[in-house]
Amino acid sequence: MDALIKVEPDIQQKLAILGAEAAEEQTDAPATQSIQRGIRHETGFIYGAQKTGGGTARLFKVLQTNACRFSCPYCFTSCAIKRQRTTFKPDELATTFISLSQQRRVDGLFLSSGIVPDADTTMEKMLGTVERLRLKEGYAGYIHLKLIPGASRDLIARAVELADRVSLNLEAPSQARLSELAPDKEFAGDMWGRMAWAAELIRRARAEGRPAARSLTTQFVVGAAGESDCELLETVQRAHRELGLWRAYFSAFKPIDRSPFSDQPAEDPARALRLYQSDFMLRDYGFRYDELPFDADGLLPRDRTPKQVWAERNLHDPVELNRASRSALLRVPGIGPKSADKIIAARREARLRDMSQLKALGVTTSWAAPYVLLDGRASAVQLRLW
Ligand code: SF4
Repeated sequence: MDALIKVEPDIQQKLAILGAEAAEEQTDAPATQSIQRGIRHETGFIYGAQKTGGGTARLFKVLQTNACRFSCPYCFTSCAIKRQRTTFKPDELATTFISLSQQRRVDGLFLSSGIVPDADTTMEKMLGTVERLRLKEGYAGYIHLKLIPGASRDLIARAVELADRVSLNLEAPSQARLSELAPDKEFAGDMWGRMAWAAELIRRARAEGRPAARSLTTQFVVGAAGESDCELLETVQRAHRELGLWRAYFSAFKPIDRSPFSDQPAEDPARALRLYQSDFMLRDYGFRYDELPFDADGLLPRDRTPKQVWAERNLHDPVELNRASRSALLRVPGIGPKSADKIIAARREARLRDMSQLKALGVTTSWAAPYVLLDGRASAVQLRLW
């Protein structure tokens, strides 16, 4: 482990170090209009995160500590990289956040951490911050709390009770791939097992009417361990089905200076974009991962959306939008869950006859046109193609 530099920064210095280092955690979703639901750097330690129902929330994203006993070779916080290490005491961090919140500079907290000296001590410190916010400061706003791999069940339970969202970064789709990225971490028990506890605790609290986190998420590093898109999405599908995962985040690998992976090429962000789109297909559109258009290496095409490519290969008969089931509508490129619901509502009132009606319902008509019939008629675009 790297020798720690023994200095005690003041709160502002800690904020600068631990806010900036949280920024190095690669959580950004690619910037496209329908995918940009991740966290976007705005200023220092404040990030704009797209809210589920629309709009943006400003999150204070920070580490409890940037000390870590692990040396994951893709990570900025790895103990193998020499840099200044510091830790927020729970009271310091809670007070700092409350001050930002009272100044109306932030709308919520995203708290992560390096792991030192062990999982439980780290999780306890993070929970100390959150407990202070909830119980002493009366803060009722948004908190996203990272779960520490290997943490004890009672600490996971406390996190589920106090946070609005909990997440645990799986990083890789399997133990074999994880061993490339984080040789000291254990996939089945320390990571998947802790997510399974969180999922079970959330379900039970909901059933009993107790407060609990509203969602469970995870994140993968893409392109550092030779994993295929197929491997990633098989694991994501399993997490949706077994853990009720709300969504997966995909972080295209970027090499960190002075790390063992510093010579490895950065991953193409377009790959992460196609993975995001595929995750939505699994979660919201009724696709199975093995229906997705992988090539022989298990990778998705990058030049078009996976749904467009799936439709080109599989949607041979046009879909009559005045009759199609919701699940059939969702298989048409350019039609999403909201526009499918609007189509179903609109056709109860009157038959759909032209593309301008579809456009008004939120359909991307240039994508949908080749695959649909409106009252038995194909669009001009489709007639050119069929
Ligand atoms: S355990 Fe987490 S913080 Fe520590 S080096 Fe690995 S990825 Fe980075």
